[in-house]
Amino acid sequence: MTRKRSAKHREESKERNLEIHSLEELKNWCWDEEPIELLFGKVERAKREWEATADALPQLICLVDERGRILRANRTVETWNLGRVTAVRGLELHELLHPHCTHPACLLNRLLKHARIEAGKGQPAELALRDTVLNRHLLVRVQPVQVLENMAPSMVVVVQDVSDQKRAEESLKRHAQRLEAMTEIQSAILAARSPEEIAQAALIRIRQLVHFHHARVTLYKPESREFFVLAADANGDTHLRPGRSYPDSFFLGNRDRQPDKFFVIDDLATLSDPSIVERQLLNDGIRSYVSLPLSAEGDFIGSLSLGTITPSSFDNEQIKAVSEVGDLLAIATRQARLYHQLQRANTELEKALHSKDQMIQNVSHELRTPLSIIYGYTEVLLETSDQGPLTPKQARILQAMLQQGERLRFMVERILALQTFDAQHLQLQQIQLDRWLPAMVSRWESRASRPTRSAPIRFQVECSASPILADMGLLQQVMVNLLDNAQKFSPKGGTVRISARAEDDYAILAVFDQGIGIPPEKLSHIFERFYQVDGSATRRYGGMGIGLALCRTIVEAHGGRIWAESQGEGHGSTFYVLLPKASSQEESL
Ligand code: ADP
Repeated sequence: MTRKRSAKHREESKERNLEIHSLEELKNWCWDEEPIELLFGKVERAKREWEATADALPQLICLVDERGRILRANRTVETWNLGRVTAVRGLELHELLHPHCTHPACLLNRLLKHARIEAGKGQPAELALRDTVLNRHLLVRVQPVQVLENMAPSMVVVVQDVSDQKRAEESLKRHAQRLEAMTEIQSAILAARSPEEIAQAALIRIRQLVHFHHARVTLYKPESREFFVLAADANGDTHLRPGRSYPDSFFLGNRDRQPDKFFVIDDLATLSDPSIVERQLLNDGIRSYVSLPLSAEGDFIGSLSLGTITPSSFDNEQIKAVSEVGDLLAIATRQARLYHQLQRANTELEKALHSKDQMIQNVSHELRTPLSIIYGYTEVLLETSDQGPLTPKQARILQAMLQQGERLRFMVERILALQTFDAQHLQLQQIQLDRWLPAMVSRWESRASRPTRSAPIRFQVECSASPILADMGLLQQVMVNLLDNAQKFSPKGGTVRISARAEDDYAILAVFDQGIGIPPEKLSHIFERFYQVDGSATRRYGGMGIGLALCRTIVEAHGGRIWAESQGEGHGSTFYVLLPKASSQEESL
């Protein structure tokens, strides 16, 4: 019966859209539903559950009345040591957070008042501040609430401690700034050319990361046991001048304070045994001091030091930043030094090469006249009978002298040709390769003085190239040299093919032989002056390694290219000469 009535009541209330606003109404409505004590018990349990939930939250949560007085707060008041949760009722929020604060312009107080006015208008408010009294970053949210219809509106104030979050944000920001500064330092260091410029660039950029009143970069010179000051930066004068060297004894403190060690001095004034430099810095007003060794590939190369006028002013983060710059500085300095050493070595090498060239040229020049005289007289002896008839033996000796004399003359001429080659004075003329090349090869074959080998070597010429514009005399020297080599390195009865063909705007001349071949790794060297694949004293073939160098000089002076190909030792070689074709205008010359 009771159940039926209450079900009927509920139906009615639904129909009338009945809402329960007071305890009295609740009692009237469900007096026969459940015993009232049970009902109160349930309400109490719900209240406790909510309180426990609010207490478990890390934020400080307060219900505040329309006059700004706390009606209820969660247990965070106790965690934050602001008082007992049971004793805060009736306090103003500002009083709770800033007990005893009488500051007329207290920021928190002003912000809270403003938020209360906003909440009074039904508007939520949010404010963030760094609270110096609580020493926390706070985020305060104020939300107007209507607890009961016939009561004045209250506010729920949630105060969140965002200090950790702020700290993380700030550290992230600092990290980003440091990264940015490091990138800048890196590019500045890379753009600098000398160790001095590098050090200067580093000091300027370190200022973005660390505040200092003195900074210095030195380079250690082990040979004289001195420190050379690469750069110095001071707010005022500095006793250690850039560009000057100081003995290492100036820098030596106790065992732990050596330039090749990292050390931090919180206050120079407290040192009982300051080094000369430390004493001078103290005289200049420097108190905090940090010294970092610069090392590259394990070698100590110098040091970087910073100082400020306040004691204990370098924190770990700054020291880390400075040492990162120090690492960059060390690498760049080392590279700059190596670069300079290399440049010096290069200049010296160039000078040596120049003197060697000069000497070769002078010697060849000096050899030319006596050689011509010896050669000339030998010819006279052989050809004239003024001195009486020659015995067959004498004639053979003179013939041999003549042959060797010619060889010597040829070598001296080639050395001089290479040393004194002048690309500016080419006697260019149009050459019809298809006519010129076979004629030139046949002249060369029939040349009397050509060194002969016992077995005949066959020479075949195929020609299909267009005309080229070249210095005929020089082009002949190139071809003669290639033919001489082909013959020299070919086996008995071998064939040498000579060809010329057109390809795009070029003519390609080639000399193929079936000779001893060239190892692939030597192919790029054979055009160097005085290079021989077999340079040993017991080598089978004679020569000075000048011919191909001269060929390259001549071909390149014509705007062409020369190269060799070979499948390796014993597989023959091919030498290619690429020369630009004569343009149609030149063809009509
Ligand atoms: P060289 O006067 O000594 O012959 P070159 O400058 O003409 O000097 O040649 C340099 C070296 O290149 C030679 O000593 C030889 O080792 C190698 N070379 C040149 N032509 C040939 C070839 N046709 N076959 C094999 N090796 C060659």
